[in-house]
Amino acid sequence: MKRVLIIEDSKSVASSLSLMIKEQFGFKTVLGSSVKQCAKILLEYKGKFDVALLDLGLPDSENGEIVDFVAKFNIPIIILTGSTLVEDEIKNRSKNIVDYVVKDGMYSFKYALSVINRVIKNEKTKILLVDDSNTFLETTKSQIEKYRLNVFTASNGLEALEILEENSDIKLLLTDYLMPHMNGLDLVRHIRKKYNKDELSIIVTSAIKEKNTASKFLKYGANDFLYKGFTQEELFVRLASNLELIELFDELRNRANKDFLTNMYNRRYLFSKGLSLYKKAKEKKEKFALALIDIDKFKHINDTYGHDIGDIAIKEVSKILNQFLYNNEILVRLGGEEFCILFHKVDEEEIISKLELIKDEFENNTIDLGIHKIAFTVSIGCSFNLCSSLDEMLQNADKQLYNAKDAGRNQIRYRKWE
Ligand code: GH3
Ligand code: MG
Ligand code: MG
Repeated sequence: MKRVLIIEDSKSVASSLSLMIKEQFGFKTVLGSSVKQCAKILLEYKGKFDVALLDLGLPDSENGEIVDFVAKFNIPIIILTGSTLVEDEIKNRSKNIVDYVVKDGMYSFKYALSVINRVIKNEKTKILLVDDSNTFLETTKSQIEKYRLNVFTASNGLEALEILEENSDIKLLLTDYLMPHMNGLDLVRHIRKKYNKDELSIIVTSAIKEKNTASKFLKYGANDFLYKGFTQEELFVRLASNLELIELFDELRNRANKDFLTNMYNRRYLFSKGLSLYKKAKEKKEKFALALIDIDKFKHINDTYGHDIGDIAIKEVSKILNQFLYNNEILVRLGGEEFCILFHKVDEEEIISKLELIKDEFENNTIDLGIHKIAFTVSIGCSFNLCSSLDEMLQNADKQLYNAKDAGRNQIRYRKWE
């Protein structure tokens, strides 16, 4: 569980922040009100905190000594201060300081929470810096890394495209305008052919102060623009707000692609992600297969035990199927009691033996509901033939499923690769 250290001598501030952090994120908080207590806590927890909130004006740290103390443990620090005039001396006191928050009411607490959340999410967030100046790349990279982001670098547009190709989970790109081989504008154009503004954020930085530079980039699909000479603080705020937007869109997409009952991917996802994998497989002649899995006589379960227990059975199917999946397989609830597994770059023998295991697992499994013990089997239809469309491939697998049902259920039918 993530751990947040709060060192603050105002009891009301400390406990409000602690409560908000626990309620909103479920992180553990450890509280102290002096440097002395902080030392004890750090010793007890071996310095293992994901982020620290430090009040500048503690009784035994009138000149911000608390910051020097916590910085030794390499914990990202958020400064809590009573004054809007935060001296540069304080801001630059440690490279671990990620931000400072002026304590003036609820809004500032919310801001502190958003910074904590950002720093913790950053551990899993990848961004790419593109600039032909090595000095710029190095200094910006080290500034950004203190926010715990994973930073890749490229010295021109072509190199950036290669890195993106290998790391499709990069969420944000910060690019220069003028560079050899491929400049920032061409890079933006290239990227937008493949990624929308709500999938990959692009911030352009440039030293050129022409009237139209910023608007030109924004029209071509950049999300934001920063003139060079920006402060570290400005960079962080822009990165944070652009990443937040991308994550919000990811969350929306995720919700639209998931099934409410089982939290499995739904039919919609099959026809977006599945279709792009299908096209790739066809183009590159990679192996690709679809298996439809349908509960046998499910209507009977509903009729005998009721719809709620039918729902439990469907959730159980999702649990069991998930246990059999690896990276190259996507599981989808197509609707009702019908599921689909999509296999990409997996050998035919491996698929067939896995489907056998799945079938046997259902045959041997009973759901224990106290008064009822429910057992059921599944029938499986699989298509290894790419057909002329994903739709046709599904119909093909459906025919095989029908054959499995017709032959007495609890079995697998498939057509081999052609
Ligand atoms: P077969 O072996 O031929 O597949 O027979 P079956 O009874 O499983 O198939 P059929 O398609 O006749 O019936 C499926 C039933 O699944 C009908 C429908 O009411 C029920 N069903 C569909 N979605 C849900 C759901 O979300 N929850 C529950 N409890 N039942 C559902
Ligand atoms: Mg059925
Ligand atoms: Mg059915």
